[in-house]
Amino acid sequence: MRNPSTRNQIWEWTGLNAVMSREAERADVGPGQVEVGIRAIGICGTDLHIMSGHAEFGEPPLPLGHELAGVVERVGAGVTAWRTGDRVCIDPLTGCGECGECLSGNKHRCPDAGEFGLRYPGGWQRFMVVPSANLYRLPGAIGFAEATQAETLHCCLGGIDKLDVRIGDRATVIGDGPTGLYFVQLLRAAGAGKVRLIGMRDYRLQLALELGADETTNVLAADSLPPAAASQDIVIDAAGTETSLAQSIELLKIGGRLLLFGLAGKPITVDMQTVVLKELSLLGSTNAPRVWSRVIGMMASGQARVKPLLTHAYPFGELDRAIAFARSQTDEAIKIIVTVDENQGESQ
Ligand SMILES: [Zn+2]
Ligand SMILES: [Zn+2]
Repeated sequence: MRNPSTRNQIWEWTGLNAVMSREAERADVGPGQVEVGIRAIGICGTDLHIMSGHAEFGEPPLPLGHELAGVVERVGAGVTAWRTGDRVCIDPLTGCGECGECLSGNKHRCPDAGEFGLRYPGGWQRFMVVPSANLYRLPGAIGFAEATQAETLHCCLGGIDKLDVRIGDRATVIGDGPTGLYFVQLLRAAGAGKVRLIGMRDYRLQLALELGADETTNVLAADSLPPAAASQDIVIDAAGTETSLAQSIELLKIGGRLLLFGLAGKPITVDMQTVVLKELSLLGSTNAPRVWSRVIGMMASGQARVKPLLTHAYPFGELDRAIAFARSQTDEAIKIIVTVDENQGESQ
């Protein structure tokens, strides 16, 4: 055993916007399972959404955390692919493993699909036990904090694959959150021509230009104009509001493709007549279990840059402060990472 501590430290979502820490015994590692010493956790908008009481996910008390990277500590019986000390990131999604969707690599479509950190206990823990099949190996070039973003990036890349981007396509992303900034980079990598980002925060729009966007529009600035109506081959709606959907449909050329990615959280109205008359393709996308290895390759090669988005870091013992800061929605805070000090609690 690499880490001799028998105790686990866990942060749990305990009720409306509340978290508490507690100690527990480290869980047993069953056959086919691996224990990961968590080293970095990304704080995601979904965490805040769950904590504010949206019941489609798990019930408190529950450790959240689905953007995770760490080091293999212990392996269970029958596990041959992993060794103590391996650096990994975790795919938080699980399926039944037996249905047609699971067997064809689409476990996100399994009737029993669920995610660690959403429905099941997640990675707000020092030590987390997961199925060995949920791990991906990290090249040395990718740090743990960066590696947490493979989860977010893999969702984005799954969406890009569905769009079937052609070299030179004119593309617009709406929404300047982390996913919007990842989509800009992936569109560039996929060969899009002019790539634009429409958002509300100058700091993030400036970063988008550094990450490969050709133009940006701040919808709150009167002198910042969006692209012309009916000018775009591709639009990605990473905001998921009624306004962004209407703008997406307006911006698309006849025959254009729209990726619906942001979640509205409620039914919203769509101008179906225009969708029909412009012969638009509307594509929904969530997880994409088969693209993880490609995402890790893109991160290692620098094709997908994560570090510029990692604006704030908190130690594991202050996860409550990290959550409070994320809830404050400061413009400059793009992605907040909680890190576990390698030597914390280890006698080596
Ligand atoms: Zn997330
Ligand atoms: Zn299944």
